[in-house]
Amino acid sequence: MHELSIAFNIVELATEEAAKADARKILKLQLEIGSLSGVLPDALEFAMEEAIKGSMLENAAISYNYIPAIANCSDCCNEFETDDYFKVCPACNSTNTFFVRGKELNIKSIEVLQD
Ligand SMILES: [Zn+2]
Repeated sequence: MHELSIAFNIVELATEEAAKADARKILKLQLEIGSLSGVLPDALEFAMEEAIKGSMLENAAISYNYIPAIANCSDCCNEFETDDYFKVCPACNSTNTFFVRGKELNIKSIEVLQD
């Protein structure tokens, strides 16, 4: 399950950030997950519960912000929501389109408890 390695990676990154701030504990973690990031929400949330055990994130409030994918049309500049890799502009039927967001898998914010 690749979500588990992603979850451990998130915990590691968050722990590094917390260490930089001389924190003891992480209180809140906000994640941003694009619909094209290849992550299954249920699997990620389950994996996170496993990954945080015994870490600074153990009792943290974790929020998951799922971001819909947005594509832009190069021909008419229309912006539209889509999860389709073979995306067609709904306004002009052009296939000359590109994603502007939806691939993100980021830590949006982190709140720590300092001594
Ligand atoms: Zn268009």
